[in-house]
Amino acid sequence: MRTDGASTAKGRRAGGAWRGLLYALRLRCPYCGRGRLTRSWFVLREACEVCRLRFERGEQDDYWLGAYTLNFIVTEVFFALILTAVLVATWPNPPWTAIIVVGVVQMCVTPILFYPYAKALWLAIDLIFRRVQPDDFR
Ligand SMILES: [Zn+2]
Repeated sequence: MRTDGASTAKGRRAGGAWRGLLYALRLRCPYCGRGRLTRSWFVLREACEVCRLRFERGEQDDYWLGAYTLNFIVTEVFFALILTAVLVATWPNPPWTAIIVVGVVQMCVTPILFYPYAKALWLAIDLIFRRVQPDDFR
């Protein structure tokens, strides 16, 4: 039996929007928490297999710009934390060559590892600020 999105929306508990962030961190649908969000590491499903929420909520091509920005911020903050820890631990003779090599590797790997989480979190944030509408369901 197919779940009707509108009836699911009515049955949603209070505070669910914030709970969506936790669901997103588990790569689950930020709306119902049960459907899987991704088909593979780099491919998002078109819609939730349980509640039928479409994951592409924006009509414009730049809908995922927020996810890319979030991914960029996480990568930069992670680098800043690593850099600060290494500088504090090794001052006054920081290993600059190692810092550069590790920094380059970290800047390449972190966005890849965080990619699906950035999209999931962006969708959850979007659901907090833009309530679901009947049109959001397939
Ligand atoms: Zn769902």
